Amino acid sequence: MSGTPVIMRLMASAHSVAEKAGSIVRKVLHSGDLGIVEKTGANDLQTLADRLAQQSICASLSRRFPKLTIIGEEDLPSEEVKEDAIEKGQAEEILQKSCPAEYSGLKEEELVVWVDPLDGTKEYTEASRCLRQHAEVQTPHGGSLTSHSTALCNGLLDNVTVLIGIAYRGRAIAGVINQPFYNYQLGAGAVLGRTMWGMLGVGAFGFQLQEVPADRRIVTTTRSHSNKVVTDCVDAMEPHEVVRVGGAGNKIIQLVEGKASAYVFASPGCKKWDTCAPEAILHAVGGKLTDMHGNAYCYDADVKHMNSAGVLATLRNHEYYASRVPQSVREALKLD
Ligand code: AMP
Ligand code: MG
Ligand code: MG
Repeated sequence: MSGTPVIMRLMASAHSVAEKAGSIVRKVLHSGDLGIVEKTGANDLQTLADRLAQQSICASLSRRFPKLTIIGEEDLPSEEVKEDAIEKGQAEEILQKSCPAEYSGLKEEELVVWVDPLDGTKEYTEASRCLRQHAEVQTPHGGSLTSHSTALCNGLLDNVTVLIGIAYRGRAIAGVINQPFYNYQLGAGAVLGRTMWGMLGVGAFGFQLQEVPADRRIVTTTRSHSNKVVTDCVDAMEPHEVVRVGGAGNKIIQLVEGKASAYVFASPGCKKWDTCAPEAILHAVGGKLTDMHGNAYCYDADVKHMNSAGVLATLRNHEYYASRVPQSVREALKLD
């Protein structure tokens, strides 16, 4: 085991750690007590699940890899993390993969880990409210949520993901996305959640890669952080269809599963922890994530967190979408 390269051991841990975080996210939803805090405003929320999941991820990874630089979304007081929040597992399927030669000698201290413990918090809180309302209607004295009530909540829970991205020399080279509520529409008895992962030179796993037919432009964008610049830019792509869903992780899932052909977000709202893991997985299958000017983002530890020049991500035909970005949008979004 000691011969296994650091990056493969780290990815194997990140896979297990993301699963543990996903189970925390489910548990807090089912408790019904989300402990919501507004960060910069009503559209920038933090819940108990964001806090507990981040503590679990950061403590678990730093215990096994003490020299890593880990940057999490949430600003949390440094307090002792409970022992049962520590995940010690390592996904065997990753340990079994061979490591690309260029990454086999990487050291812990050369890697930066970007953590979004719960991407799609806005949708998570809306789904919780919706589920509670339907549960009250159906079971006035409490009781479990039914698959009927979850189906009524418009797939919001699918918007929620846990993101762990790994960067080396400023590049997103590997990432894990856990989708804690995957399969929730199937109701009681279904195994909830899935974990997708990818690494440059290795590939991407945990999903079936599919593409939108080349002659259809399906654009996915935000459902809760829109403004005129965002919608002008989407319109400029001349889409056949627009898919408005929450979460940066979830929108990359739309791209790699053939539900959308471009993720277009002409806003400075996304941060490095939103895009690092998704970018690595997308790049591992030949896609591309850039700012609205077509430039790559840098994920070094000292970069600013905001993706100020927006997010443009595609599986194919990146140049087409980049070429359609209007001048007014380019001017509104400064170079990072
Ligand atoms: P969305 O597509 O709106 O779900 O956004 C993707 C990610 O970027 C989520 O983590 C959001 O919280 C974050 N984000 C986007 N726009 C904003 C904003 N205006 N303020 C705070 N966070 C944002
Ligand atoms: Mg996020
Ligand atoms: Mg988050």
